Amino acid sequence: MKELIVITGASSGIGAAMAKAFSAKGHPLLLLARRLEPMQALQLENSLAISVDVTDTEAMKAAITEAETQYGPVGCLINNAGVMLLGQADVQDPQEWSKMLNINVMGVLNGIHAVLASMKARKTGTIINVSSIAGRKTFPNHAAYCATKFAVHALTENIREEVAMDDVRMVTIAPGAVETELLSHTTDQAIKDGYADWKEDMGGVVAPEVIAETAVFAYEMPQSVCVREIALAATRQQ
Ligand code: NDP
Repeated sequence: MKELIVITGASSGIGAAMAKAFSAKGHPLLLLARRLEPMQALQLENSLAISVDVTDTEAMKAAITEAETQYGPVGCLINNAGVMLLGQADVQDPQEWSKMLNINVMGVLNGIHAVLASMKARKTGTIINVSSIAGRKTFPNHAAYCATKFAVHALTENIREEVAMDDVRMVTIAPGAVETELLSHTTDQAIKDGYADWKEDMGGVVAPEVIAETAVFAYEMPQSVCVREIALAATRQQ
């Protein structure tokens, strides 16, 4: 059987597209997100869907242990779960910052913590962290979100250097705007409207399936080749 792939945030958008893409390649999957039903609705063969909040370290470890019992060790972990709560720094509820930091940064670290020791011991494995173009450049009203995504770039590259000699690959995928549920959680309606206009002005954004293809591309490179970073966005995105 092919290697087990773990995908967080598989209940919608990019994560769901990645689940379909890796399933089509014949991989067994562990799908993690808080909402169970949309992951089960994907109806993918050899897949286990478990409701897990990525901020819960123990729940994540338990889910991975359960999947490994069934499908063998994790070959690739994709830390994709994330939230984007846009706001102006002087008025935004600080709880939204905590939420983003916990999910987008601590969630990624929790995933890494759950699989890295085993990958190092086995001298193989791939961890793909989904960052953003907002992890490379800033945008208005994105301060805390950008902070989390700059952190994802930093921690991925930092750990890549640490585990390179263990033959473990660390990959950052940095998408530009993609059509998903991501924007819907922002509470400031004016910012949401402005973002929607921005996407329309550029004549459309990237489909989640395109981001999924890049994950498959990076993963399918020989284990001796680490695609360190892929940044991709609509051609017209600034
Ligand atoms: P969606 O909102 O469609 O998907 C986000 C996923 O993350 C959902 O499956 C959600 O599941 C999951 N999630 C959120 N919070 C938690 C949590 N606490 N525990 C477990 N799962 C959680 O957005 P996208 O598909 O667009 O986002 C995927 C990733 O791509 C994110 O990291 C995002 O920052 C990044 N990205 C997206 C871009 C875009 O324009 N869409 C651009 C650049 C990067 P549930 O609610 O069921 O828990």
